[in-house]
Amino acid sequence: MGPGFRFSFRRYSLYFILGVGLLYLLLSVLGYHFYGVAKLDIEHTERAAARIELQTVFGRAMDDLRQGADRLAEWDELYQQLANPEYFSYWYGHRIRGGQGLDPRFTDLMLYSPDGRALSLIKDSRLPARLDLTDLQVSYLPRGDDIEVQIIRPLHRERDSRMGFVAVRASLRANIVRLQSFNRIDVHQLRFALDQPTHDPQQVLRAIRYQLQPTPAQAAMDRLVLHLILLLSLAVLLPTLLLSFFLIRVVGRAVMRIPQMVNTLRTRGLEAAQEQIDHEEGWQVAELETVQRLLIDYHRELSSANASLDQKNQELWNLAHRDVLTGAHNRRAFDNFWQTLQSLKQRQRMRSLRLMLCDVNHFKAINDTYGHDIGDAVLQAIVACLHRAVRRDEQLFRLGGDEFACILIDCDDQQAMAVASRCEHEVANYPFAEKLGIREPVRLSIGISPVAEDTDTPAKVLLRQADVAMYHSKRPSSGSVCIYRESLESRSGTIFSNSINEAVYRVIEQGEGLVMHYQPIRRAEDDSVAYYEALMRIGYGDQLVYPDEILPLVESRHLERELDQAVIDQLLKDFYASKIPSGSGVAINLSAASIIDSNILARLDAFRPFMSDYRLVLEVTETTLITQMELATTHLMHLRNQGFQIALDDFGSGYSSLSYLTGMPVDIVKFDITLVRALHDAAHRRLVGHLLEFIASVGQATVAEGVEDAAILEQVREIGFDYVQGFYKGRPAPLEPVRRITN
Ligand code: C2E
Ligand code: CA
Ligand code: CA
Repeated sequence: MGPGFRFSFRRYSLYFILGVGLLYLLLSVLGYHFYGVAKLDIEHTERAAARIELQTVFGRAMDDLRQGADRLAEWDELYQQLANPEYFSYWYGHRIRGGQGLDPRFTDLMLYSPDGRALSLIKDSRLPARLDLTDLQVSYLPRGDDIEVQIIRPLHRERDSRMGFVAVRASLRANIVRLQSFNRIDVHQLRFALDQPTHDPQQVLRAIRYQLQPTPAQAAMDRLVLHLILLLSLAVLLPTLLLSFFLIRVVGRAVMRIPQMVNTLRTRGLEAAQEQIDHEEGWQVAELETVQRLLIDYHRELSSANASLDQKNQELWNLAHRDVLTGAHNRRAFDNFWQTLQSLKQRQRMRSLRLMLCDVNHFKAINDTYGHDIGDAVLQAIVACLHRAVRRDEQLFRLGGDEFACILIDCDDQQAMAVASRCEHEVANYPFAEKLGIREPVRLSIGISPVAEDTDTPAKVLLRQADVAMYHSKRPSSGSVCIYRESLESRSGTIFSNSINEAVYRVIEQGEGLVMHYQPIRRAEDDSVAYYEALMRIGYGDQLVYPDEILPLVESRHLERELDQAVIDQLLKDFYASKIPSGSGVAINLSAASIIDSNILARLDAFRPFMSDYRLVLEVTETTLITQMELATTHLMHLRNQGFQIALDDFGSGYSSLSYLTGMPVDIVKFDITLVRALHDAAHRRLVGHLLEFIASVGQATVAEGVEDAAILEQVREIGFDYVQGFYKGRPAPLEPVRRITN
């Protein structure tokens, strides 16, 4: 926040009103003060004028009294009284007190003899009984709330013949009031506050207290000022209130609408904000409305820019995280997803996860035979099938070639198995033949790795476990779905898949490490060895790696042909080394991929020198025959013509169909261990009996695999197998003693 004030609109308005109010109050006080000063000034001059008026009126009243006294001094009756003083009391009572003889200006009168003595002592008269003839000036005497003026006049008849004196008294108030000549002074408010008798008129003047009469001009002036103040108040306060009302009600509300609208924009979107503006009621401020509309426009542009950015982002994400061919997520997406899962797991406990890994059996063969376009179409179809099989929120990842993974969330082993079999089912039911012209069945191998709840197992480890389980599921003996468990790891527990990998590559690339074991196949009738089945092992260090560990890896790396080639080479070496007893023979296991490979075919030509002395059998599985049946058939016919016998291996373990037996160039049928082991069951025995009869009728020989004890051997002989093979009659072993550690 920068410097300066930051208040709400209301507060600013409030401060504005307060400011105006204060200013107004200040100005009023000042105005009133000036007005008071002016009023005082006026009063001052008024008072000065009043004093002059008082002096004037006082002067006139005194002049009047003096004139009155002068006239009185000429009154005849006074002279008669002085001449005949014995009637004075009577005259006084009759003329002065009782009658109308005395000038009304005066209140009392007394006559004095030339030596200053009163003619008579009159009761109630306040005039002195004797005059001080040295002091005959006018005197002023306090009397209550008035001043009595006393004037003495000598009385002469003729020049210098003084007959006596007359003294009168008069009320100063009454004589001033009588004049009625005050303009400024209020006559009724006069106070006379003389404290002792005096002759000095100035002293008297000073003793007179007075008040000014209220002047109408002054009153009018006061009223005017009052009205002026009232009007001014209205003129200032009313517009201020109106302006404040306007600011708060109109501008303030309009301003407040902007943040409200922005809030609506943020929480409820463009439409709601637009509607809010359109339906606004009350007073509007055009400029602010424009601002709101501009904001909405701006927001609209931003959102559309955002949307296109989002889309671009999504496209980029897809580019980076999706496999272009199948649309499944890619390896990078898998790693990201795994990381997200880990952090999710930390926040909320997830019950359990399963990692499902699958690949397409014999995909390389399909790809090679039908071409890449069909191979791609197969992968796309597989992804579509997997998508149908997994739950909607479970993502599918393509980790490589024909390898797919799916992380199953909140899923136990049972549910994972269910998902896996749904996947199998979807793929098995897909019309590959109709849509892509693939005659062989397309099948998945699936491995499942459980994710421990509490441990943060890295994706790498899980993938490896799922991998191990998937390899395992490829073994002929296990189903097509397998859940990882520790016992699946290398038998000895010391050889890991990395080592197996290494061992296999050493065999293929350097031709080292391959060791052939030979298991006798004996004639049922006389127990003599007819020939040996060659079974590969790889020596790794001082240990031997067995086919159930080698084959899954070889299959997933599509190395079947290379390995078969190595086996062929090794067998040839053994032949040349004369390890194979003459008169017997060797059965070679060939993978599906090898049968349709003309290079391998050419390689088999190398056995030609041994063809006359040895029986040479090629063991192929049913799967081999089904995959690329036509080509396989052609090749097998060719091989047969060269002198090889063809054995159908593991009969009864897979997609058994009797039609293969009649349609294919097969000389020997090897009954799978599962069929042989079940011979103790009567119904089963009947079925096998019929099969044997049928096979014999088409001129093919039969081998019973997995003869493990005397009982099985007995059953096998009884039912009419031509050959027996099994641990009971001889374990696979090198034909020359080789140091062995395991098995
Ligand atoms: P297969 O062709 O069915 O070979 C017979 C398997 O059964 C051998 O296992 C053998 O040791 C085992 N076996 C023999 N008698 C008995 C018995 O009485 N009881 C039981 N339970 N098993 C018995 P092995 O050597 O582990 O080979 C497994 C599979 O690996 C073979 O099945 C074959 O399909 C494949 N394989 C072996 N050697 C080669 C090879 O050189 N090339 C190719 N392509 N595949 C091979
Ligand atoms: Ca075999
Ligand atoms: Ca077999």
